[in-house]
Amino acid sequence: MNSLQSAHEKISSGQRLERDEILALYDENDLLYLAESARRVKEAKTGKKVFYTVNRHINLTNVCNANCPLCAFQCQSGDNRAFTLELADIAKILSLVPCPQSLSEIHIVSSLHPAKDFAYYLDAVKLVKKILPHVGINAFTPVEIVNFSKISGKTVAEVLHDLIDAGVTSLAGGGAEILSDRVREIICPKKCSASQWLEVMRTAHGLGLRTNASIMYGHVETVAERVDHLLKLRALQDDTGGFQAMMLFPFHPANTELGKRFNLRRVGSWEDLKMLALTRLTLDNFAHVKAFWIMLTLPIAQLALSFGADDLDGTLGEEKIIHAAGAAGSSITRGALTKLISETGYTPVERDSFYREAI
Ligand code: SF4
Repeated sequence: MNSLQSAHEKISSGQRLERDEILALYDENDLLYLAESARRVKEAKTGKKVFYTVNRHINLTNVCNANCPLCAFQCQSGDNRAFTLELADIAKILSLVPCPQSLSEIHIVSSLHPAKDFAYYLDAVKLVKKILPHVGINAFTPVEIVNFSKISGKTVAEVLHDLIDAGVTSLAGGGAEILSDRVREIICPKKCSASQWLEVMRTAHGLGLRTNASIMYGHVETVAERVDHLLKLRALQDDTGGFQAMMLFPFHPANTELGKRFNLRRVGSWEDLKMLALTRLTLDNFAHVKAFWIMLTLPIAQLALSFGADDLDGTLGEEKIIHAAGAAGSSITRGALTKLISETGYTPVERDSFYREAI
């Protein structure tokens, strides 16, 4: 039996797929077969429910000296695009949130500011917690955590303890890109290594913090490197069980050095949906796979619900990082999100950071 035949057999009997089988499914390129298979896995896990949350993104600063070639968000201090929120700015942003009682999550990710100390980030979290004590704070990627460790002289575990004490309730899943040091050397050489990213997540899970995970595809990586990335996440999840959801980010090349250097174009919707279905089939130990609408566009995110996704993320409100690379739209109303879900025949379910359903 070849790898493709064994992949088909395993999918029909609900067994775990191995590396050569996932690659064979990718090469077979049967999108509708993948969709139907992934949709069955999704429905076995979460039935007809599709989750969303009422959240708000806050990017504290875009000043960064990491100069990742993949990034359109960063700028240098003094640049006319540069911004850094101080506590008064954060308080003002939160005072403008309509219906703050209906908000269930604040999502905070930023750049690696060369002059801000760890206390700046802790104070920002404490302020959010003070103003909105009822919300979950999903904040900081492992890339930021490693930076906090560097600038504070604390261990990763100490940094995470401090963040939990300040009010962080879960860790963001970004910065994974492709967990291959060959790829990271090209796309983000100053970010933490693949093993550091995984180690931060392992430590966070050990401290009881739930986190998300992600993949950024469609640049200089090979398909085998994408699959190996998924297998690393699956192996860590086997050990810790601490990942809640997987997010897929197609690379947006606009305004990036990486895009220019390799003359990259954003991958098409076929690739987005194929990756989504393959991810749902590979990560058998992840409860949720998100169709992150701001990355995919709303029409493709809606279609993704038939390719194994069970979560459309949230209302966002002024996301800036993905926007800088050309993504359209920065927020959506709860009504528009629930309508998109209902049109597919699924049931919209509002959730909090921990997938507890709103009453
Ligand atoms: S991806 Fe993050 S760390 Fe890299 S340059 Fe952009 S903001 Fe800085």
